[in-house]
Amino acid sequence: MATAEFKLYENIFIETSIQASDYDGVILILYPEESNVPKPRLIASYIHKITIVDKHVEKTPTVWNCDYVTGGRLVISPTGKITPYNDVGVVKEAARKGVERALDAGMKKPLLIVQNAVDFPDGQLVCILGALEALYQPLQMRERNISKHFFKIGLHAEENESESFEKVVRNAIALENSRILTRDIAGGDPERMSPENIVSYIRNAFSGNNFVTINVIDDDKVIQEEFPLLAAVSRAANQIDRHKPKIVELLYKPSDLTRVTETIMLVGKGVTYDTGGANIKTGDFMTGMSRDKSGAAAVAGFVKACSLLKPVHLKVVGVLCLCRNSIGEDSYVPDELIISKSGKSVRVTNTDAEGRFAMADALFKVSEIASKELNPHIYTIATLTGHAYRSYGNYTAAMDNHSARATNHASRIQFSGSRVGEGVEVSIIRPEDLTVNEGKIKGDDLVQIDMNTKTRHHQLAAGFLIKVANLEDKNVKYTHLDIAGAAGILPLTDPTAVPVLSLCHVHKVLL
Ligand SMILES: [Zn+2]
Repeated sequence: MATAEFKLYENIFIETSIQASDYDGVILILYPEESNVPKPRLIASYIHKITIVDKHVEKTPTVWNCDYVTGGRLVISPTGKITPYNDVGVVKEAARKGVERALDAGMKKPLLIVQNAVDFPDGQLVCILGALEALYQPLQMRERNISKHFFKIGLHAEENESESFEKVVRNAIALENSRILTRDIAGGDPERMSPENIVSYIRNAFSGNNFVTINVIDDDKVIQEEFPLLAAVSRAANQIDRHKPKIVELLYKPSDLTRVTETIMLVGKGVTYDTGGANIKTGDFMTGMSRDKSGAAAVAGFVKACSLLKPVHLKVVGVLCLCRNSIGEDSYVPDELIISKSGKSVRVTNTDAEGRFAMADALFKVSEIASKELNPHIYTIATLTGHAYRSYGNYTAAMDNHSARATNHASRIQFSGSRVGEGVEVSIIRPEDLTVNEGKIKGDDLVQIDMNTKTRHHQLAAGFLIKVANLEDKNVKYTHLDIAGAAGILPLTDPTAVPVLSLCHVHKVLL
């Protein structure tokens, strides 16, 4: 199988010259004149001449014969016009398209020029990430050994800043390797990434890493007792061994626990396939539902980033709620009354609202442990509602509970996202987003989802999670991230691995 990971001095190299030997071409990001990003001295006038000949180079990537660079070929990949509405995402796009164009041209050993653009403080990091993203080959392609051949990539920064540039490169490699893990899990088809197969993939991904321990809960009785809402969702899937639910607990601890200042606790939705259950998804609405594990995949990716970059100030607990919402004779159905681990009676109203069930008991468990942890911050990450996508398109919806909101945490994630090219929208949880989840008849504490409510579904899902996990009156920071629109929609877009970069940025995981 083709290797998945990037390693410095193995398939990624830092070069001090655009004439370094053993490359088959060079990629330059072309910024608009007004951005004042200096071009490499050796090719500045060459590029100037080209832009006079053909303005089209400012619109789309082009390949030129150029004797001033290694390999004799130059790919010019433009950012296009950069307006005040753009963020560093334009750099990522230009880098990604530039590398794609280079591969199309037949290059196997491209050298990327990583410029410093003052408008984008993390521009170099994002530029490299965009380039590496273009080199990602899905797991199932790698396993068939049909990956496009790529030998290595060189990275060249114009200024004399070797030490700080090496740090940027090391950050980019760690982040990209974490995103590869996330994309592999999120993008694997529902059989390749069944709960059982995700567990073996994770064990393999963290094997030999002394900073991460893995605990897997898959005993039928324990799942039934400790995670009753998840158990209800996966009842139909229980008939098939490889589809049985599994809870994966990942724990990252730095070597010196006395330096830890914050405990991050993340719960991820890992529904490996969502048929909708008895409320089956009709028409074409089931297509793409293997991506319903993207939240759990992102949790694993964040832990991976920590295991590589080894932040000394963080302890991280990651919980992957892996199950499958199948349909069959043992399916849970609307009208069932199920008692959550927190002791709430929850009326099933639509089996397609399974994500909140899959995470509810794990979230409760985490919130119970949180009180014993130092400065805890709890997250849920999930492709939870179509409403998040309808509200915000391909951006993450971030929602703080009262404690997290007191520190403006969702806004801080939004800021971090803008620095690393992941768009985040802040949504506010209102009182009605909590109360709408309350049961309407005697004996019902909660309804799974109020089917009469037509608006605010991504916010009221957060309200449900707060209520079912008994977080309402607890003063613990909790942020819910709905990535239904942001995770990448099959069969149109690759898995995006959001919000791994934003979380690493906001929690200062980077070197
Ligand atoms: Zn669903």
